[in-house]
Amino acid sequence: MSEERSNNFIEDIIEKDIADGKHGGRVHTRFPPEPNGFLHIGHAKSICLNFGLARRFGGKCNLRFDDTNPAKEKADYVASIKEDIKWLGFEWAEEHFASDYFEQLYQYALQLIRDGHAYVDDASAEEIARLKGTPTEPGKESPCRNRSVEENLDLFERMRKGEFREGEKVLRAKIDMASPNMHLRDPLMYRIKFAHHHRTGDNWCIYPMYDFAHGQSDSMEAITHSICTLEFVVHRPLYDWFIEKLNIFPSKQYEFARLNLSYTVMSKRKLLQLVEEKIVDGWDDPRMPTISAFRRRGYTPASIRDFCEKVGVQRRDNMIDVSLLEYCIREDLNKTATRVMAVLDPVKLVISNYPENSFEEMETDNNPEDPSAGTRKVPFGRELYIEREDFMENPPKKFFRLAVGNMVRLKSAYIVKCENFEKDADGNITVIYCSYIPESRSSQDTSGLKVKGTIHWLSAAHAKQAEVRLYDRLFLTENPAGEEADFRELVNPDSLQVIPDAMIEPSLAEAKPGDRFQFMRKGYFCADMDSREGKPVFNRTVTLKDTWAKMAGKG
Ligand code: ATP
Ligand code: MG
Repeated sequence: MSEERSNNFIEDIIEKDIADGKHGGRVHTRFPPEPNGFLHIGHAKSICLNFGLARRFGGKCNLRFDDTNPAKEKADYVASIKEDIKWLGFEWAEEHFASDYFEQLYQYALQLIRDGHAYVDDASAEEIARLKGTPTEPGKESPCRNRSVEENLDLFERMRKGEFREGEKVLRAKIDMASPNMHLRDPLMYRIKFAHHHRTGDNWCIYPMYDFAHGQSDSMEAITHSICTLEFVVHRPLYDWFIEKLNIFPSKQYEFARLNLSYTVMSKRKLLQLVEEKIVDGWDDPRMPTISAFRRRGYTPASIRDFCEKVGVQRRDNMIDVSLLEYCIREDLNKTATRVMAVLDPVKLVISNYPENSFEEMETDNNPEDPSAGTRKVPFGRELYIEREDFMENPPKKFFRLAVGNMVRLKSAYIVKCENFEKDADGNITVIYCSYIPESRSSQDTSGLKVKGTIHWLSAAHAKQAEVRLYDRLFLTENPAGEEADFRELVNPDSLQVIPDAMIEPSLAEAKPGDRFQFMRKGYFCADMDSREGKPVFNRTVTLKDTWAKMAGKG
C-alpha cells in the first residue's frame, strides 16, 4: 500500500533513529484517545499513522485511554473506541488506562516536591491567572512558591486525603514565571476534584493535569515516538522537563497537522452538541464525521485507510476537501459492490405488445468491473417501474431517455419505443406506454437498432418496497467551525431526504445490515440497521459522481 510513496517527515525521523540505534532500534507508538466521545475521521488519521508506523517498522502500538478528566468520561465511549479501531483493521499491542497510573503519577509528584521542583499553591484560579503575566510580560511569583519541602509534602498528602475543598489548593511545577513560553510559568500538575471516575470510582479527589499525565504515561510504557497534533508543540518543553526532572524513560513527542475536512466540524465537543441537541440522530447518524457513522453509511475500512494515506502527514494545518474521502469510497465500491436496480421515484411503464401475465428472466452482471462476481437473473414483464425523471413530456433537444417517439434500452433487457402516456388531474404522469422490439434482447440483439440511452427498471409484479435515505453534507459552508455564525446555524436543512416508498429488486429484500450495493445510475447504498422484515432501509453512501465539484464548476 505505501511502498511507492516517499517517506513522510515522521518516517524520516524514525528511520534515522533506527539507523542511530536509538532505543536499540525499537519503535513503540501509542494512540491516546480521551473516552469522552466517539472517534471521528481525524482520529482515524492518528490511528492510521500510529498503528501504520508500528506496522511498517516492525514495532508496536498501544491503545491508551487518556482518562484523567473524570467529569466527561464514560465506559460506553471506551467500548465504541475499541470497536472502531478494530473495524479500521488495527490491533493494539497493549491496552492501558492513564487512570491505572494515578498511584505512580502521585509518587512522581512526591518525588518532584522532594527535589524542590513542585509546590502547593493556595491561590485561586483567578489569582493564578492574574499572576501569570502575558506573552510579552513576565508573570509574578506566588507567595506560596517558596514553601519548604516538608510543608509541601504535608499539604499535598492532605490534598489527596480530601482535607481541602475544590479550588482551595493546587500543585504546581516550579519552573520559571518569566519564561517566554507560558506553559513553563509554573504549570498546574494537580487540581482537587470531588468527582466520580468511570474506573477509579471515588478513590481519588485529586486528578493530574494532561501535561503531567501524558508524558509520564508515555514513559511508563517506554513509548519511543509519541505523536500528537500541532497544538502540543508549545507543550513539548514541559513534556521534556518532567521527564528530565524525574529521570525516567525519555519518550519524545513529535507533532503533525490535525486533519480538517471541509463541510465538517471535527471537535468532540461540537459533535456532542449536535447529538445532545438532537440536530442529528446520535453519534452514528450517517451524516456525522464519526467512524461509527461512516461505517453505518457504508464506508469500508479500506476506503478510510486509503484516504488517510492520500492525505499524508503534514507539518502545517490545512483543509482537506471532503470530496477526496468520497473519491476513496467510490473507488473501493466500484470494485466490489454488486450492481442492482432500484427505482427511487417510480412511475409505471406498460409494454403494450408484451404478453400479459408472462415473465422472463434477464441475465445481468453483478459487477462489470469484476467478472468473478458472476451474473444474476432479474424478472421482466409487461408492467415495469422506471424512474419518473427518465421520462419527459416536453424533452429538450439532447434528451436521450423516454419521450413520445424516443427509443431507449432497458438495461439488460429490450429496446422500447415510447408511444404515449397518461396524466392525472394534477398533471402528474401516471403511466407510460411503450412497445418493445423482440429482436433487441440484450446479448442476442439482431435488431440493428442503435439507441443512445439506457435506463434501469423493475418488474412491477416482483418489485419490493424499501425506505431509502439520501444524505448530503451536514453543513452548508466549507469551514463551519471557522465562521462568525454559530456552527449550528450552518446546518444544511436538506442533509437528509427520506424516501419511504422506493422500489427495489426482489433480491434486495434479503439484504442484511451492512450489505453494500450500487443502485445503478443512483449511487452506492448500504442496508441500514433500521431494516425490518419486509421493509429494508438503505443509506446512500455516496453518489456515483462528484455532483458538488460539478456545481462548483470544478469537475
Ligand atoms: P477533539 O478536539 O476532537 O476532542 P482531541 O484531540 O481532544 O480531539 P483525543 O481523544 O484527545 O481528542 O485525541 C486522541 C488522539 O487523536 C490525539 O493524539 C489527537 O492528537 C488525535 N487527533 C484528534 N483529532 C485529530 C485530528 N483532527 N487529526 C488528527 N489527529 C487527531
Ligand atoms: Mg482531548
